[in-house]
Order: sequence, then structure tokens, then C-alpha cells
Amino acid sequence: MSEFLVELGEDQLQIQKWVHDFAEGVMRPAAHEWDEREETPWPIIEEAAKVGLYSFDFVAQAVADPTGLTLPIANEELAWGDAGIALAITGSSLGLSGIAATGTPEQLMEWGPQCFGTPEKIQLAAFCVSEADAGSDVSSLRTRATYDEAKDEWVINGTKSWITNGGIADVNVVVATVEPELGARGHASFVVPPGTPGLSAGQKYKKMGIRASHTGEVVLNDVRVPGRCLLGGKEKLDEKLARAREGKRSTSQAAMATFEASRPSVGAQALGIARAAYEYSLEYAKERKAFGRRIIENQGIAFKLADMKTRVDASRLLVWRAASMGAKRVPFGAGEGSMSKLYAGETAVWVTEQAIQIMGGYGYVREYPVERWHRDSKVYTIFEGTSEIQRLIIARAISGIRIL
Ligand SMILES: Cc1cc2nc3c(=O)[nH]c(=O)nc-3n(C[C@H](O)[C@H](O)[C@H](O)COP(=O)(O)OP(=O)(O)OC[C@H]3O[C@@H](n4cnc5c(N)ncnc54)[C@H](O)[C@@H]3O)c2cc1C
Repeated sequence: MSEFLVELGEDQLQIQKWVHDFAEGVMRPAAHEWDEREETPWPIIEEAAKVGLYSFDFVAQAVADPTGLTLPIANEELAWGDAGIALAITGSSLGLSGIAATGTPEQLMEWGPQCFGTPEKIQLAAFCVSEADAGSDVSSLRTRATYDEAKDEWVINGTKSWITNGGIADVNVVVATVEPELGARGHASFVVPPGTPGLSAGQKYKKMGIRASHTGEVVLNDVRVPGRCLLGGKEKLDEKLARAREGKRSTSQAAMATFEASRPSVGAQALGIARAAYEYSLEYAKERKAFGRRIIENQGIAFKLADMKTRVDASRLLVWRAASMGAKRVPFGAGEGSMSKLYAGETAVWVTEQAIQIMGGYGYVREYPVERWHRDSKVYTIFEGTSEIQRLIIARAISGIRIL
């Protein structure tokens, strides 16, 4: 590679500024309140819907960007504003990705807009995969879908844990096993339409961070959905199951395909938190005085900031590379999607901790945002595949060996 320069286009710069203004003007001032209340920030989602930021059209437009950069740019700015509120706004997109990953274009057009509703009637979506005994090990999930041929209906039973928007979503995308003996290759995804009987909210979790984002259990008790709610359709599922029974590799595993596609966007959110903490502590270090000089004049502080900036920029490069590859359908030969999420997630945890250290006592108290950013950052090494699982994916990709 002789030259490497990424220049954002006019449209991307406009979107970046638009989302940044929303993050700065609407999200930042509300961040502390919603973290303390630990509730879904409906007024902010409403505001985002009003301006078109919380909408199917915006996400569809961002996904359609052939460079792939619009989505990570928007995610970075949102999380720079506040990660908890950002997830309250972007959580529905995960449900949408679940539909896009395995659904037909017709299913996407039917259910995609319903994931968001309209500014007058806002709807939420959830992507329900994890279970109490199946987080990293998705192949062991127990939620079961059985086909009632006479009625052309699927009957779903099980309980999903730690679901973003779980129990408050209108559209639920549920990954269930249709043939447990096939492990992950026996999975299928279903849309459970709004108001379907049998789907109910379990417990709401109290969390360390991203507290403005609702996380809860989803209980499915004899939930019946019409045959057309099977994403990808019955024919495709039957073909996939037949291949799996013959021991052939399946081309797509529902949950994995969704997570792989959404990883750069999740990495971009972690990057947004890290950048926020870096910028804040840089300004602080230039003003705070100790021993008669600004604390940044000490190498011990200045070098921390140099490392923070380096890691923030490295995260962005990895995120943009993965997003660009995704948009151009270049396969992730070395687990580049995982690399972006792994590095940005761990960077966010590290940078926010350094920021607390730079701010001393002010970094540790709730009056300032840095302790919240640190709490918010931690989930980025856990959800959408833990750091260990990302390393596993990268290690397998680069070695071709099934590392355990
Ligand atoms: C706030 C929040 C929101 C979430 N939102 C969603 C959502 O919307 N939808 C959804 O489906 N899920 C969601 N999750 C669930 C999340 O994806 C899981 O928590 C995550 O995948 C980890 O699973 P687990 O908690 O069962 O941990 P485990 O899988 O039990 O892992 C425990 C530890 O063991 C390590 N480990 C496991 N296997 C290996 C291995 N083979 N090699 C090395 N180390 C290993 C893990 O890395 C981890 O450190 C959310 C979780 C949180 C906290």
C-alpha cells in the first residue's frame, strides 16, 4: 500500500455534523439524568424520531452508503454524546440487522419500518439470542420453535436473557432451535410481530453502565407466529437443515451473521466513548494545576494522553476498515470485524480509566461524566461477543486451526 488517506465525502461530513449536534445539544445535557433514573429516555428517542435520526429511513440510508463509513461515523458521534442513550436509540437497529441478515427483501420491507414506527407512534425492536445458559456458546441455546404444519404456524417456547429492549420492544427477532441435535446449524430466526400473545417481559436488569438502555428478559410461552415470520422462508430453512444433516457447512448461521455484520458499528460506539474521555481529560490536564504547573506539563500525564489519542485513532482505523470491507463485501479473512470491536472495546475501557486517573478525585465522582463513561465502556468487552470470543475468531481466521 503506497498511500492511505480517507477523505469523507460532503454527505458524510454533513451527517457527522448533524449527529454530532444532536449528541452535543440533546444527548449530553440529558446523560446524567437518564443514567441516574436508569430508564428508557423516551423524550430523547422522541426527539431523535422527530429529526429523523431514529428511523428506518436513516438507518437504511446509512447502510446503503457504498463506502460503509456513514454508519460508524453516526455511531461514534452518538456514543460520544452518551452511550446509554445511544443504545436506546440504536438498539432497534440490532433487531433490524437480525432481519436483514437472514430475511428476504420482502420481509425486510415489511418488518424493517416497524422496528422504528413513526414519530407519532414510536416502536422498538429487539434481537433475542442470548439465554441464561447460552451467551458466548450460542449453539447451546434452548428456545425451541416447532412447526405446526396444519396451521402453517411456528410455536416458540423459551426465555431470552440480557436482551436490549427485551420486554419493551414491539418487534422481536428471536433466534430459536428447530433441530437441537444440529447445534447452531439447526437455528432459525423468527419475527414475533407486535402484540403477539405469549410473549412477555421477564426481569429488568439493573446494570453497571449504559443504564439509559433497557436490558431485560423475554419470555416466550407458546408464542404462535405465522409461517411467513420465519426469516428467509421455509424452503431455504429446509435446504439448510438438509445440508447440515449431511454434515456440510451451512452458509449462514443466523445469530453469527448478524453479529459479524454489526461489530464495526458496536466498535464505533466504543470509540465514541473513548474519544469523549480523551477530549475531556486533555482539556482538564491543560487547565488543572498542581505543584505550580499545569498537570499536562508532567510527562507522566502527557504521555498518557499521547497513548490515549493513539489508541483512539487506531480504533477508528480498524472500525473504518472493517466497515469498508463489509460494505464492499470483502470477506473478513483475518477476523477484521472482530478486530475492530475487540480493539475499540478494550480501548474504551482503558482510555476511560486513564481519564479518571488524570482527573483524580474529580474523575471518580458522579458530578463529572468520566466515571459514567468508564462504567458505560465495560459492556463493550462483553456484549456482541466478549473480547475472548473476538480473539478466538481472529485466531481461528489467521491460523485456520480450530482453536478452543
Ligand atoms: C447490557 C447487555 C446487553 C445485551 N444485549 C443483548 C441483546 O440485545 N441480544 C442478545 O442476544 N444478547 C445480548 N446480551 C448478551 C451478551 O451478548 C452475552 O452476555 C455475551 O455474549 C456473553 O455471554 P455470557 O454472559 O453468557 O458469558 P459466558 O459465555 O458465560 O462467558 C463468561 C466468560 O467466559 C469466557 N468464555 C466463554 N467461552 C470461552 C472460550 N471458548 N474461550 C475463552 N473464553 C471463553 C467469556 O469470554 C467470558 O469472559 C447483552 C448483554 C449485556 C450485558
